[in-house]
Amino acid sequence: MRRKVIAGNWKMNNDISATISLITEIKKGVNDQTKAVVIVCPPFTSLETTQTLLKDSQIKYGAQNMYFEESGAFTGEISPLMLKSVGCEYVILGHSERRTIFHETDSIINKKIKTAVKHNIKPIFCIGETLEEREKGITFEVCERQVRQGLEGLSESELSNLIIAYEPVWAIGTGKTATSQQAEEVHLFIRNLVAKLFSKNLADNLVIQYGGSVKPENAKELLSQPDIDGALVGGACLKADSFLKIIEAAN
Ligand code: PEP
Repeated sequence: MRRKVIAGNWKMNNDISATISLITEIKKGVNDQTKAVVIVCPPFTSLETTQTLLKDSQIKYGAQNMYFEESGAFTGEISPLMLKSVGCEYVILGHSERRTIFHETDSIINKKIKTAVKHNIKPIFCIGETLEEREKGITFEVCERQVRQGLEGLSESELSNLIIAYEPVWAIGTGKTATSQQAEEVHLFIRNLVAKLFSKNLADNLVIQYGGSVKPENAKELLSQPDIDGALVGGACLKADSFLKIIEAAN
């Protein structure tokens, strides 16, 4: 049985005081009745505060990005060692905003996943097609390329903590959600692909989250699909109330 994983991607939102307020509110709603694994991914500047706030909490946290080198002349970048020093357990890699705005390629993302694995940071690896690609009928092809290239050179044992987030780009921050059938068919495709590339065991245990305008109103329906194992939430994770309702929908 795969445990559902609900992760909040704060993106470039929340200074320290907003971080304290939001995490304090989320903590009030997460307890031993909560079945899902809950993860928050604040900006880098809030990670140390998050570490302090979540000490002794079941809520986990991660970063939204990471560079693939350990140190050196890479102005503005953050290394895996730095993330480890603030206790990060997870890192979001390959988010579509990184791919489109910051021109991250499959090969860069592959290096980042390898680095995360090497440092024992669990990758939340995002993939998904654009609207144009969906309309051209190449959704599966695009997702297959992203999975193959993103995971190239990694072994089954290195991927035991991998999470894949299927996030159709046209559904991110647009208010347009994939229908549960549209999402489920891609999730199943990804799981079968991972079985083919690695093993059935890895595929059966792999958490595949859906992301793209997940909100309290659609969470239950999406999370009830057999291959949807959680959600990567953007907009709706910035308010404790809506994030907690999504967590509740995973119970
Ligand atoms: C995201 O940023 O990963 C995301 C899914 O955003 P939103 O929920 O706002 O669509």
